[in-house]
Amino acid sequence: MSKSLLPKNIAELKAYSSAKSEKLTGTTWLNANESPYAKEFKLSLGNLNRYPEPQPEYVIDAYAKYAQLNAEQVLMTRGADEGIELLMRTYCESGKDSIAIFTPTYGMYKVSADTQNIAINELSQSLLLNADVSEICASIGGAKLVFICNPNNPTGSLTPTSKIAALAKSLSGKALVIVDEAYIEFCPEQSAAPLLQDFENIAVLRTLSKAFALAGLRTGFLLANTELLAPVRKVIAPYPVSTAVAMIAEQALNTDSVTQMRRQVSILNRNKDSLKTLLSNSPKVTQILSGEGNFVTLQLSDRSFIETAMQQGTIMRPFSLYGEDNWLRISIGSEQELEQVRLWLEQPE
Ligand SMILES: *Cc1c(COP(=O)(O)O)cnc(C)c1O
Repeated sequence: MSKSLLPKNIAELKAYSSAKSEKLTGTTWLNANESPYAKEFKLSLGNLNRYPEPQPEYVIDAYAKYAQLNAEQVLMTRGADEGIELLMRTYCESGKDSIAIFTPTYGMYKVSADTQNIAINELSQSLLLNADVSEICASIGGAKLVFICNPNNPTGSLTPTSKIAALAKSLSGKALVIVDEAYIEFCPEQSAAPLLQDFENIAVLRTLSKAFALAGLRTGFLLANTELLAPVRKVIAPYPVSTAVAMIAEQALNTDSVTQMRRQVSILNRNKDSLKTLLSNSPKVTQILSGEGNFVTLQLSDRSFIETAMQQGTIMRPFSLYGEDNWLRISIGSEQELEQVRLWLEQPE
């Protein structure tokens, strides 16, 4: 009965299959681009009778310092995913407006748009990377939000910040350019955050889920100038960040933790190079899309190799890309975890 009450866009939704939504059993988890490094946090919570600060000042200040921005340019969200949803809720009118995305790319842009009945202008990564700015802007048409995942998940490709700046300039007054920097810690010199100095229509999405090793905390940040953020601050829930989350985020952003994160990033970047060497020497692998980020995406000569790995407890993320279902994304784990990948790759079929 209640089904008949659903709006059409909701009735037609397919549940987002996240890396964690399928009940998989395994011992080596390389499917969600998580960090292999778990950190312990100690909390002493005696004030949970009170509502939390809507935007905890210590966390905002710490992140602003880390991102080299002012506190007014930082909004804390429940993961970058909430940032994506908030931008659409704030800037797009349901049933009327559209967003532009460059596929293959992160799946949540489509999920958020579909749930809010926002149309999607699906363009390709190769257009973004290879076409000139005027051609890209012509293809973007009337889209209000243009999502650039940089580095792009799952291809690892990078859009130069000079191109992001040129796009923002040309779209000024017409659209916002949203740069999703979930993996920027793996290539910090590529960040578009410094562009906020010159552009009112750029927003940057950040997260503590990847390099900061806190996927379980559900914390992200939306970085933009005050004018862009002001309406988003009206749309966000009144108390989005729990007291416990704020306390952990504060610890995760202190100087020592940031230094530790950077050390881990350099280890993971080295592990990625070793993995790429292994992959390029493997007859099982026909193509490698390797770029920035803590993952490598590859095409297998035979899709059944994925099942073999799963049976051995090594869980990686299968993908359909460019109309073919034999792609796999491997998150960069610890040396021991990558050893499991090596054993699988070198096993005779
Ligand atoms: C993982 C990921 C996110 C989601 O981050 P959360 O902060 O965990 O919500 C956003 N964008 C991209 C491209 C990602 O890969």
